Amino acid sequence: MNLNLVCIPGDGIGPEIVAQAKKVLDKVASVYGHEINYTDILMGGASIDVHGIPLTDEAIATAKAADAVLMGSIGGDTNTSPWYQLPPEKRPEAGLLKIRKALNLFANLRPAVLYDELSGACPLKEEISKAGFDMMIMRELTGGLYFGERKTTTENGVRKAVDTLSYDENEIRRIAIKGFDIARKRRGKVTSVDKANVLDSSRLWRAVVNEVAKDYPDVTLEHMLVDNCAMQLVKDPAQFDVILTENMFGDILSDEASMVTGSIGMLASASLNDTKFGLYEPSHGSAPDIAGKDLANPIATILSASMMLRYTFDLDKEADAIDAAVQQVLKDNYRTGDIFSEGCEKVGCNQMGDLIVERIC
Ligand code: NAD
Repeated sequence: MNLNLVCIPGDGIGPEIVAQAKKVLDKVASVYGHEINYTDILMGGASIDVHGIPLTDEAIATAKAADAVLMGSIGGDTNTSPWYQLPPEKRPEAGLLKIRKALNLFANLRPAVLYDELSGACPLKEEISKAGFDMMIMRELTGGLYFGERKTTTENGVRKAVDTLSYDENEIRRIAIKGFDIARKRRGKVTSVDKANVLDSSRLWRAVVNEVAKDYPDVTLEHMLVDNCAMQLVKDPAQFDVILTENMFGDILSDEASMVTGSIGMLASASLNDTKFGLYEPSHGSAPDIAGKDLANPIATILSASMMLRYTFDLDKEADAIDAAVQQVLKDNYRTGDIFSEGCEKVGCNQMGDLIVERIC
């Protein structure tokens, strides 16, 4: 297969971690007989330095023409970098919002996996963490409360603020379809999370998810209220496969789920539109404090590349090969500084990339 990828190395540790993911993809391509073409574009601070803005229209056009985008991370030290003296729409993060909008990326996927070898980093009690967990949070990204009408007024000397939470059935249906499709590639269970005991938007959410479920008789659907879900994530995270939810609930629950893994350098993510196209990036930021020192953990980016093979290209075998190589490197006790524990061998970003490449088969 020919894979046309756009890469956004970005800022901070971005270029280091993307370089490792490319090495891993190249090894997969050579073992499984694929051809990968990479085109790099600038975004964030790197684009500001060259073009004065965080993302150019040309860069967007290049991304649109690709099959998928693999990104490192963007942004600098928000206290010291001159990028943060610029008006908000010219700062690095504006590039990210612009590309998400331009590519219509409405579905955000964040896996939260507890690896046996890293269970010591999990802040949950051992009796809970010993069961392990492997879940995928699927969050609607372009609707709901964050995009609804809002205003602040003063009435009779009293300040008042209003935010609006609205969803139409089409917005719900397209994300639900993505959620069920992804459950089919996993353990076949969807937990749809809402607040249907209070909110009309949640009652519509639940009704539409039930309609979509009829086309997926092989996938088990359950509904859970968001307050209960927040508790269950720390009480019994092993019960979850795909958590399907709206924008604000997903924002909060996905951060909670990543915290319980305890290892920020391991968390991949993807943002998808209604085609096979996706933007794949680690969940963490550009870590300016360790940039250029060969200290970054590249695994979140490498696992994002694995998600890209699985969800954009349907190359499940190849994605499995990457996931297995990551697991093996942990079993073999190699760790970057962020996940290091006594008795393991500490390695840098580049060596971690090489060790994973060696284990691709
Ligand atoms: P951060 O995730 O960059 O860093 C938080 C802490 O985690 C730091 O101590 C960092 O060294 C560590 N860390 C993060 N990734 C790591 C990795 N792969 N390996 C080892 N350690 C790692 O968050 P922050 O410090 O709040 O933000 C830094 C910059 O990143 C800001 O400019 C922010 O806006 C940007 N940011 C970008 C994205 C994105 O590109 N999608 C996401 C979040 C933050």
